Amino acid sequence: MAIRAEYIWIDGTEPTQKMRSKTKIMKDASNLPIWGFDGSSTNQAPGDKSDCVLQPVFSCPDPIRGGDNILVLCEVLYTDMTPHVTNARAATREWAEKHADKEFLFGIEQEYTFFQGARPLGFPSDGGFPAPQGGYYCGVGADEVFGRDVVESHLEACLDAGLHISGINAEVMPGQWEFQVGPLGTLEVSDELWMARYLLYRIGEEFEVSATLYPKPVRGDWNGAGAHTNFSTKAMRESYQPNIDAAEALGTKVEEHIAVYGFGIEERLTGLHETASYKEYSYGVSDRGASVRIPWQVEKEGKGYIEDRRPNANMDPYKVTARIVETVGDAAK
Ligand code: ADP
Ligand code: MN
Ligand code: MN
Ligand code: MN
Repeated sequence: MAIRAEYIWIDGTEPTQKMRSKTKIMKDASNLPIWGFDGSSTNQAPGDKSDCVLQPVFSCPDPIRGGDNILVLCEVLYTDMTPHVTNARAATREWAEKHADKEFLFGIEQEYTFFQGARPLGFPSDGGFPAPQGGYYCGVGADEVFGRDVVESHLEACLDAGLHISGINAEVMPGQWEFQVGPLGTLEVSDELWMARYLLYRIGEEFEVSATLYPKPVRGDWNGAGAHTNFSTKAMRESYQPNIDAAEALGTKVEEHIAVYGFGIEERLTGLHETASYKEYSYGVSDRGASVRIPWQVEKEGKGYIEDRRPNANMDPYKVTARIVETVGDAAK
């Protein structure tokens, strides 16, 4: 029987790229051919040279359609098979290869916010506000959490797809949630994070809520949404000093990192709401007001990983992981 392969790619929308997908009917999944699309409809090509190429790079079972159907994440190429300018994965592949000997692992915490219409889920539709933040983070009860049915359905879909989700939690602002992917290698964590995002949007359709990655969904005294990026090298997992060295290395390339940590980062990294100002760089043990946190267990055990708290929820994991691999990998002896 024929199967349905959902070909998924990242488009050319500015300033933040969106996801697109379309369905290919195939005899079976034994061979995933390249495919094409109209780049003039995705901000990836002019109308008179509209053809772009989809190159499959990662596939998994489709937990929504079930059966033998699959999801297929693709890189976008020009028709001469070189990487499209919107294809950040190609450069990440090169950085991952260059520093393969460091054995980087990443665990990314993806925060997001559900919206129903123009308002976050849990915010009154008359334009008023819910009770101030305090009880929502990891909360329980109909007055504290909004959208748990969607979250549970997303988690199940991710696990059915074989994605390496390591946990979920309700966040500080009502309607805001988080899932974590990893620890995994550089390309693997990025591919799986994009796939988990796709499933989040797709599952949202079923519940008629939209999942958004806006970094500062509500102005004022409401937490923004980030994508804390935890990472380690083999050396960091074996002793303490390489963790400090990595934190120091990040401090030598502050602007280069902020530039790829997601559009609107200035609005989120204000120095309030568990963030450090994007203008200053700091790191510290257990410090959730620092740019980079060294978890207390890492200090206690004398080895582990560190957490870059700066990336926005709307960041591209290909760009963030590649930048970290470049900075930390190049600095490591
Ligand atoms: P918190 O909310 O306290 O900042 P989370 O539990 O949400 O932390 O996320 C921690 C992340 O760190 C998880 O995604 C986990 O996979 C990741 N992680 C744990 N150990 C390592 C490691 N050695 N290298 C990279 N990432 C790691
Ligand atoms: Mn977390
Ligand atoms: Mn969080
Ligand atoms: Mn965190």
